[in-house]
Amino acid sequence: MPEKILDDISHRRYNPLRGTWLLVSPHRTKRPWQGQQEVSPSKNTLPEYDPSCYLCPGNKRAQGDINPDYKTPFVFVNDYSAVKEEQAEYKQEGEPKDLSSLLLRADAVTGKCYVLTFSPSHNVTLADLSPAEILPVVHTWTQIYSAHLSPKSPLSAISVPKTVTRAGNAISAPNAQYKWMQIFENKGAAMGCSNPHPHGQIWTTTGLPEEPTLELEQLMKYRHEHGGKSLLTDYAKLEMEKVERIVFQNTSFLVVCPWWATWPFEVMVISKEHKRALVDLNEAEKLDFAEAIAEVTRRYDNLFETSFPYSSGIHQAPLEGTDEEIEASHFHMHFYPPLLRSATVKKFLVGYELMAEPQRDITPEQAAARLRDCGGELYRRYLV
Ligand SMILES: [Zn+2]
Ligand SMILES: [Zn+2]
Repeated sequence: MPEKILDDISHRRYNPLRGTWLLVSPHRTKRPWQGQQEVSPSKNTLPEYDPSCYLCPGNKRAQGDINPDYKTPFVFVNDYSAVKEEQAEYKQEGEPKDLSSLLLRADAVTGKCYVLTFSPSHNVTLADLSPAEILPVVHTWTQIYSAHLSPKSPLSAISVPKTVTRAGNAISAPNAQYKWMQIFENKGAAMGCSNPHPHGQIWTTTGLPEEPTLELEQLMKYRHEHGGKSLLTDYAKLEMEKVERIVFQNTSFLVVCPWWATWPFEVMVISKEHKRALVDLNEAEKLDFAEAIAEVTRRYDNLFETSFPYSSGIHQAPLEGTDEEIEASHFHMHFYPPLLRSATVKKFLVGYELMAEPQRDITPEQAAARLRDCGGELYRRYLV
């Protein structure tokens, strides 16, 4: 604990991956807390198959399609996609110096959205699955990513076949070349997820969205200023020396509560070596990645003995980009969970966070220590 004083004083921490700051107020964890409610460990009362679930095998979806009787992760185009492949043309009119062109800007976005179920069982989550059971999900993510890569990308040459065939449905290459693929999961009602069936989403778009743009700029800047090195390789090395923010690690991946974490139990899964994207991972590394996901999600559930809500997502190389953008990309995954003190006490990003900058009370070092202690069997296996 070299900077021990930071456990007691308010300070700001820099997030080099986004180029932003956050306020840390560790002394506030000592204030009396009156709203806390301890609830008994939550059991899993869901059925393995729910006839009314639009994701369960053999069931009918909103637009009338019937899911196959799938046994491995199942992918389909979202029935309510946020972006579509086809839409009316739009081009901003007016001279570049017009006030409207300056202040009322818009860009058309096309793309394709998929839903991916992690398991045919309605009543499991990633926390219930073993690394070997999560591996097919990693394979499917890799195949979908490959199927959308630009032929011009240096990653295209090393990627797997271009067509994803799973459970009788094929994900064909898209109509147009999209730039970004966002793989993510919203888990739990607290994160606005309406269906407990284990699933994630994959959105591809013509433009590069805000978060990846911020990170890519920072990664490229670091690479440029540090002789071609990756910011996240250097960061992973530093965290392995410091130890105190490590939650878990295996040969290929490091799981940390980052120095700059905003959410109380925010976690980052970082490839120790420089990997640009899923297609850079060999089989052993994919299994290590699956293990890292299993470790994070199980520890989360064990922490407050509840099915822990979170949003998670993968950041990797854009589908199409300059050589510099692709080389600077560093494969990693974020987990942003909203829970603070118990299964029912959430952190809200409000007030100061919305108006000034993010703020946290418990330090990432304290959070990492809690999560390190939550390993072992999933708590609900012991419940009767
Ligand atoms: Zn279901
Ligand atoms: Zn990221």
